[in-house]
This record gives sequence, structure tokens and C-alpha cells, in this order.
Amino acid sequence: MENTTSGIYIIMGVSGVGKTTVGKLLAEKLDLPFFDGDDYHPDHNIIKMASGKPLNDGDREDWLKSLNILAKEQAQKSGCIIACSALKEKYRTKLEQGLNNPPHWIYLEGSFEVVYKRLKNRKDHYMPPGLLQSQFDTLEIPENALTFNVEHSPKTVIEMILQSLKDLSEFGVLGLGVMGKSLCRNFASMGVRISMYNRHVPGKEENIALNFKKKHQELENTLAFDELHKFVGSLQQPRKILLMVNAGPAVDDVISELIPLVSKNDTIIDGGNSHYEDTSERERKLSEHGISFIGCGVSGGEEGALKGPSIMPGGNYNAYEKVKPFLEKIAARDKKGKACCTYVGRSGSGHFTKMVHNGIEYAEMQLLAELYQILRTKGNNPDEIASILADSENKMQSYLLEITIDILKKKEGDAWLIDKILDKAGNKGTGNWTTIATAKLGTPSTMIASSLFARYISAFKDDRIAVGKMLPVEVSAVKISDDIILEAYQLARIVNHIQGFKLLNEASKSYDWSLNLSETARIWTNGCIIRSTLMEKLVDILRKEEDLIHHSEIISSIKQLKPSLTRVVAKSIESNQPVPCLSEAINYLNAISHSNSPANLIQAQRDYFGAHTYQRIDDEPGRFHHTEW
Ligand code: NDP
Repeated sequence: MENTTSGIYIIMGVSGVGKTTVGKLLAEKLDLPFFDGDDYHPDHNIIKMASGKPLNDGDREDWLKSLNILAKEQAQKSGCIIACSALKEKYRTKLEQGLNNPPHWIYLEGSFEVVYKRLKNRKDHYMPPGLLQSQFDTLEIPENALTFNVEHSPKTVIEMILQSLKDLSEFGVLGLGVMGKSLCRNFASMGVRISMYNRHVPGKEENIALNFKKKHQELENTLAFDELHKFVGSLQQPRKILLMVNAGPAVDDVISELIPLVSKNDTIIDGGNSHYEDTSERERKLSEHGISFIGCGVSGGEEGALKGPSIMPGGNYNAYEKVKPFLEKIAARDKKGKACCTYVGRSGSGHFTKMVHNGIEYAEMQLLAELYQILRTKGNNPDEIASILADSENKMQSYLLEITIDILKKKEGDAWLIDKILDKAGNKGTGNWTTIATAKLGTPSTMIASSLFARYISAFKDDRIAVGKMLPVEVSAVKISDDIILEAYQLARIVNHIQGFKLLNEASKSYDWSLNLSETARIWTNGCIIRSTLMEKLVDILRKEEDLIHHSEIISSIKQLKPSLTRVVAKSIESNQPVPCLSEAINYLNAISHSNSPANLIQAQRDYFGAHTYQRIDDEPGRFHHTEW
């Protein structure tokens, strides 16, 4: 256990319960100074109690203030043990005011009879036993304290306290939505002791964590909170807190709430789909407070999060080292049993990698949609398409292919469900971000862009209906064998991966991230949405060649499959079928393998209207010319 013993410990309970004895023993064990709260009462309080009169809230005001100052002073050092009755919740609030980390509350409980007997035997104390009833009347039993019965011997109580301190959670998950919940269950099943937190919104979001805990047996040993400071206080230090909230302002809101509660050297991990530039900025901001920040891509959806996601953490390496064992525990395993989790690189590289993962996913999905469309217009029903795809599975397995087969087979009564689903695709923005990033970096990830725009076009359903009336398209069947169609799909997927990894490589160079592309492919072989046998092959290929299109095996696949892709795209266009992603694949291949392009005309046009100059093929490279056109 790392440094869990520092901090402020307040031993509370009614007079006579044994706070001083236990406090002193604990101080010895934890090697911290001990302070007896009774020593901080002003004289008038002592006189009042000695005369048999109970203290009221006003009497306790200055006393609580002094103890709060003491706690704050000691918190600047390594902490301390304070024995203090702290009977009411509002007293406890006063005691912890302004403390960066809430104190560990240790409540010593005992029945009136037991405590009364003890008080009667106590000599040289100003508090008469007769006041005990008023203490019990005032006592509000704390909800967030470690509680121990004083009928045990002080030695046993100390042993129990030390055990409970050891039992502080190793890891915290904040945000119990779809992903947060699955990840919590995953952590708990892997034996990680976690604390879980979801915000409390009166009337809307109440007891989310507690109710969730009650629903799943594996969560039995977890701690559930809807008060942030208690959640933070329940974690071993240095703390590790995984945020699973919606990307955007929610992440900043939660970070702002956490900053005053966490300490230097704690690590916050953002496991949502945040934008990589936001992640870099958040890392910078948190580093000003000495807090580490990891921007961590998590892929696999709800089921992946539960059974083992693919995890892409980026940020400070030392911070990663602290969270690595936890992330690796819940990650999916590759074929060799290694965790599908690797340190991606500095700064926002983890979230960038996750973004590109999603971009590749967009194109993989669009390709399957185009494949489905071509096979459907050939007259196949969804079951028949499912069986064509299933036959191809031995050649090219992928998670997305598997789920597509399932989807196509799904029926509602006699009808296929797919036929009842509106053809308007939504998106949550990561395809958009990838398209912007690829444009920013000057890298042609054309298939990702085209699949994003295909979703946008699909969303204009009313327009499509209206324009379709004015420009009716007669869709006809592509008269090509299923095998050739599948080969076209196979090659388009390869091109999609060539483009996706090229985007990662260009980003790595531009941002100086030193990304290991083979490792990236490896952690994408399981747990994530784009896992496939192709990805497994790429692990080895990328070890030898960063730019996939230069690898001999890729070149030979292109040579073999390109005629099929060309035919399928040409025939689809002739049949009035939109195939934006398949056609981008063949266009890219044609463009990237043409040593001569018509860009000489572009350069001439730029020079004509904007005097942007051009280079000549009959002059040295790097020399620029201008013509008065
Ligand atoms: P949900 O919408 O299911 O859950 C969001 C969670 O964030 C809820 O617990 C919500 O609390 C909490 N939250 C939102 N705003 C705040 C706030 N201001 N303060 C505190 N808590 C807040 O989202 P998901 O679990 O699906 O996704 C979480 C993140 O993971 C997102 O970034 C998402 O893009 C990413 N992701 C999602 C995947 C998926 O398949 N769903 C896959 C991979 C990544 P409350 O319940 O109180 O509203």
C-alpha cells in the first residue's frame, strides 16, 4: 500500500469512549503526532462542563475553530491524529473546512451503559458522568466514518483500524453511465478494490452508485458514493481516478470540482472520447497543481468495457506507470495473452489514437453498408446476405462483420428488423474530428472523410426524398459474382487501414509523439470495435514498415484484388448505386500509384491568379518560378 497513512485522522465519539487511548496507540502505529481535542477547549468550556452543564453549539464554536486550524497546520506536514468528540455533522463540517483532503473519520461507538461505566472509573477528568446523556442526545452518528465498537480492547480496535485503512479503495471510477458501470464491474471482477461515484441531482439522479452496487454481486466489496469529497476520501493515496463522463464541458466541470479535493501526485484519467487538443490543455492545467493527467481512449462499447476493452492511455509516462497495473488488469488480451493496453505516448496522443480508431471504424462500417447495398440490390434478402458474409468469414474475420451478420439475421415476427430501421445515420463527432485532423495534418484519409459525409448525406432524408422525385434514379443490380464483390470489400478495408495508420504516423511526426504503430495495431486486435484478422496481420507488418503501402505483402494483395475493386466501383456507379467509400479506396490507390498527376495544372492556376509560383521539372528542386500569364 502506497503512503496511505499520511493525512488527518479524527477519532470521534462521546466522552469516555476511549478516544485518547486509541488515538495515542494509532499515532504510535502510524508515526504521526497525537492531539487531544479536550486540550483545546477554552477555559470557560471546561468550567461549564465541570459544573455539570452541557456545552451548546455556541460554546463549541471557538473550540472547533482552534481544532480546524490545528488540522490545517498538520495537513501541511504529514498529518496527525486528533481525538475530538465531533458529535454533530455540522461540527464535523467545521473541522474539515479548508482541508484539501477530507480527514479520515474514525468513530468509536459504545452503548450508554458501557461508556457510563468507563466514565465513572475515570479519574482526574473535568467531565462528570452525568453529562453523558446530553452527549448521546447530541450525537449524530456519522455516515462516512470507519466505525469500531469499543467493547473490543484498544489493541484490537487499532488492528481493526489499520486493516480498514488498508481497505481504502485502490482506484476510483467517476461517472456511472453506460461505460462507467461496465468498467466498475470489470474492475471489481478482476479483484480491484474500487470506489464508485455518480453525481447527485435531486429528483433525477439519486443514489445511483449505491443502487448500482446493490444490483451486482461482484460489486459487494466496492464503496459507493454520491458525495464527491467522500468518494475522494475513500481512495488510497496517491489517488487514481478514472473519469467516465461525457466528453466536453462535463470533463472540465468534474476536473474543477476535483482539484480542491485531490492532492499533488494524484492521477486523473479521462477515459471518455475527449478531443486530443482538450486533453493536452487539461494536462497542462492540472500539472500546475502537481496533478497528473492521462487522456485514455477506451474502445469496445458497453460489452468491451465489461469483458475487456482496448485501452489507449497517453500523457506523462510516470503517471502512466502508476495506473498501468489497473488498466492492464481490465484490458482485453491479445492472442498471446498480453493486455490490449499500452502506453501510447505523450500529451493527447492516447485520445488522438482513439479518435483515429473511431475514424477507421466509420469507414469499416460504411464499407459494410455499401457491401450490403450491392448484395441487396442483386436480389438477396438479409438472411442470404448474412450467409454470403458468413461464408467469407474464414478469409476475413472482423468484429464488425460478425455483428453485421447477426444484425441481418435479426427478425421481428416474419420481417427483418433491418428493414424497419430508418436510413439516417447519427454520429457523436469523432469521425468529424478525425476528418478535421487529417485535413489539418495534410494527410489524405479520404475513406474516413467519405464515410463521415455519407452519414451526413443519409441524415438529409427529406432532401433525398424530394430530390429523388425530381431526379429519379433507377438502381439496377451489379452483375458481378459475390466473390468479386467480397474481394473489392477486402481490398477497400486494406486501403482504409493504410490511410488510418498513415494518419497516426503523420501525427506522430508532427507532434513528436514517437507512436509505436505495431503496438497500436496489437492493442486493436482484441477488445475494440475494429478488431479483425487483418489487424492481427498488421502487427507484424507495421513492425517492419510504418507506411503500410510500401510493404511487399500489402502490395501483392493490392495487385491481386485491385481488378475486383475497380470493377465493383465502376459497375456500382453504372447501376446508380452510391459507393463513396469503395470508390475513395480505388481513387486513392490510383492516385497514390501514379507518378504523374494533373497537379501541374493546379500549380499553374495558383500562379496565374495568385502569383503562388511553381517548381519546374526541368530545373533544380526547390527553385520557384512565376510567369506573367
Ligand atoms: P453516458 O451518457 O451513459 O454517461 C455519462 C456519465 O457522465 C453519467 O454518469 C453522467 O451522470 C455523467 N456526467 C455527465 N455530466 C456530468 C457532470 N457535469 N458532472 C458529473 N457527472 C456528469 O455516457 P457513456 O458511459 O456512454 O460514455 C462516457 C464517455 O465514454 C463518453 O466520453 C463517451 O464518448 C465515451 N465512450 C463511450 C462508449 C460507448 O460505447 N458508450 C465507448 C467508448 C467511449 P448522470 O447520470 O448524473 O447524468
